[in-house]
Amino acid sequence: MNATLTSYLGGRWVAGTGEGADVADAVTGEHLHMVSSEGLDLSGAVSYARQVGGRGLSSLTFPQRAALVKATAAALMERKQELYDLSAQAGATRSDAKVDVDGGFGTAMVYAGLGKRGLPDGTVIVEDDPIQLGKEGLFLGQHVLTSRRGLALQINAFNFPVWGMLEKLAPALLAGVPTIVKPATPTAYIAQHAVRIIVDAEVLPEGALQIVCGSIPGLFDLLGGQDSVGFTGSAETAAKLRGDAAVTRRSARFNAEADSVNSSILGPDAGVGTPEFDLFVSALVTEMTVKAGQKCTAIRRAFVPEPHLDEVTDAITARLADVVVGAPGAEGVTMGALVGLAQRDDVRRKVTQLGAHAATVYGDTHTVDVVGADAERGAFMSPVLLRADDPDVGAVHEVEAFGPVSTLMPYTSAGQVVQLAARGEGSLVGSVVTYDDDFAREVVLGIASHHGRVLVLDRDSAPESTGHGTPMPQLVHGGPGRAGGGQEEAGLRAVFDHLQRTAVQSSPGRLQQILGPR
Ligand code: NAP
Repeated sequence: MNATLTSYLGGRWVAGTGEGADVADAVTGEHLHMVSSEGLDLSGAVSYARQVGGRGLSSLTFPQRAALVKATAAALMERKQELYDLSAQAGATRSDAKVDVDGGFGTAMVYAGLGKRGLPDGTVIVEDDPIQLGKEGLFLGQHVLTSRRGLALQINAFNFPVWGMLEKLAPALLAGVPTIVKPATPTAYIAQHAVRIIVDAEVLPEGALQIVCGSIPGLFDLLGGQDSVGFTGSAETAAKLRGDAAVTRRSARFNAEADSVNSSILGPDAGVGTPEFDLFVSALVTEMTVKAGQKCTAIRRAFVPEPHLDEVTDAITARLADVVVGAPGAEGVTMGALVGLAQRDDVRRKVTQLGAHAATVYGDTHTVDVVGADAERGAFMSPVLLRADDPDVGAVHEVEAFGPVSTLMPYTSAGQVVQLAARGEGSLVGSVVTYDDDFAREVVLGIASHHGRVLVLDRDSAPESTGHGTPMPQLVHGGPGRAGGGQEEAGLRAVFDHLQRTAVQSSPGRLQQILGPR
């Protein structure tokens, strides 16, 4: 098969011409399809989104839009097996695929609920009570939120083709703004299939959702102040796109979720034998192995009190020895493949950079026993645990090996570990694993400035904890600095980000007439 993956634009499935990029099965290395957008009418797609999609969506009330979000999620759930099967070709085990597919469903359902219960039965949101601006109360002001008349362009990373699409789509739908999805090439076929399921189910109005598989040359030239770009991917691509005139001159809203060298901190109280020690070890192994470590939230740096470092090293090494790498679905396999050989090469390079400053205590980037597949043809890699006895070395805080790789480092005081966590220059998430109130307070308040989310994990919260690596739609996802400086999710805040906030000033009677209930 040498077919080109189709895109859904202007209400039709269309294939690009030209050679395009070759996408292979992550497990077998076999060619799957080409990805090319050459010759596709992207300008037509932009007009279609604004004129057909935007008009249709913005005329619906918030509860009607919430019903669309729910129906979209339900349509995907009905055919989730198809998405699991495709995810396996990208190296994802069933539990990895669930993080993406069921995680996306759960996120959309939370948004459907928030939209239904938390937004008014209309098309505008009056944010506050009237604010008196003059002495006699003749002149008031009030903030109102209305749908922007543009589109939401979402550009996604390869690792969460379904969740990444839905966590951006749901708030845009609620805001009454149409979406164009540009998935990452290596897993575009999974995102494309999710769109196909939604289109087949006929749950969304015409023009509300389109997808371009392949590059998007010239599309930024068409964006302006009513449009937004939600980007997820590397810091390098984020920097390039952020500098486009669409953003710098025409003020298209730009939100970036970029890479992040996240950390987990074990408290000094949490020696071997405590529940927190076990929680720390478990969380690190989970974050290294789920999706073969290809998670923006994965723990890259693990800070351990110096006296506990040997015991932590031994405990994690023992747990990693139980990891079975291989083809998703093959007997006993607990960790799948990386998304492709290029990604594996990139991780190998990054581990070499880290290895100049850290010793390898488990695994090897070039040797791995694989069950049910050929270790060289598929993009397989062993988990790799590194240990840097000098935590001051720059590389361990800078290099993100986007695979099953983490580095252990010692620290000696709460003040020092706060400084070390900040060396990541801004992260999506940090964990503090401790049962000590004072340590938790000092570290959480110390590192909050550099993190979008901080998880305090202990024996009390563990039974219900959603874990280090799982962004929750009710809470902010995004971090400062290197993590992109953006914020997604955080409940209805993500919906408000697509709306225009306008201060309306007038007399009390006139304000009531314009903004009051009809
Ligand atoms: P990437 O290479 O930066 O690509 C991200 C997206 O940008 C892809 O869809 C890519 O499309 C697109 N892109 C690249 N150049 C573009 C351009 N000039 N114009 C428009 N779009 C362009 O990142 P990746 O390799 O897919 O993802 C891995 C990285 O993402 C990691 O560093 C990870 O930390 C980060 N990540 C962050 C989060 C988060 O929430 N913060 C989540 C997941 C991943 P093509 O694939 O077609 O080139």
